[in-house]
Amino acid sequence: MQLIGLLGGMSWQSTAEYYRVINELVQDRGDGLHSARCVLYSVDFAAIEAMQSEGRWDDAAAALGSAAVALEAAGADFIVLCTNTMHKVADTIQAATTIPLLHLADTTAAAVTSHGVRKVGLLGTRFTMSEEFYRGRLAAHGLEVIVPSPDDQQVVNDIIYNELCLGVTKPQSRADYRTVISRLVEAGAEGVIYGCTEIELLVDESDSPVPVFPTTRLHCEAAVNRALSAPALRRPELP
Ligand code: GLU
Repeated sequence: MQLIGLLGGMSWQSTAEYYRVINELVQDRGDGLHSARCVLYSVDFAAIEAMQSEGRWDDAAAALGSAAVALEAAGADFIVLCTNTMHKVADTIQAATTIPLLHLADTTAAAVTSHGVRKVGLLGTRFTMSEEFYRGRLAAHGLEVIVPSPDDQQVVNDIIYNELCLGVTKPQSRADYRTVISRLVEAGAEGVIYGCTEIELLVDESDSPVPVFPTTRLHCEAAVNRALSAPALRRPELP
């Protein structure tokens, strides 16, 4: 089993979910007491969020690139960046290390296309919904991506940063997400991507009339598939 390098803390609420789901999947695949081999670098999200809101993306890329180097030094075989938004700087992170980055938009697109969905709604932070780094990567897989109206994007984004990243889930916010999802479906979405790693802490498949694609779970599944499909290359001597 390979050693998974988790680059998380953005926010820790969803990184805790990564740790739990990855271990559950490994336990389910084996017998007895198996658990995932992983190493976690968890950043202080306040510092990263300040870089985002001030537009200091080069600083964020450098910080996360350094964290990726630390994961490589710890023996990780590959990197799982536990946030959709920070895939905006995925190329810089990848360039900083010699181990592969398991790109979240690729694992998401693979799940969407395997369901036969072509026109898909995307929920996430304002960066993920409005910029090309994520939508363009999905489109490169042949998907037509639609996003909420500017007002709805604001609602979705504010609930992520003001509530979900702080561990707060409110019934009203769940209702607001359901409304946004129903508008995406009215606009022709055949499926909806929960394209922020905290969204599945608030809503699930019962909140949507069309299939949903929860990116944290999909990323965890891809990471476990990869970890179990090859022997550890870099620190095989460790359990
Ligand atoms: N975890 C979130 C995501 O998947 C948002 C937090 C962040 O800005 O990184 O996009």
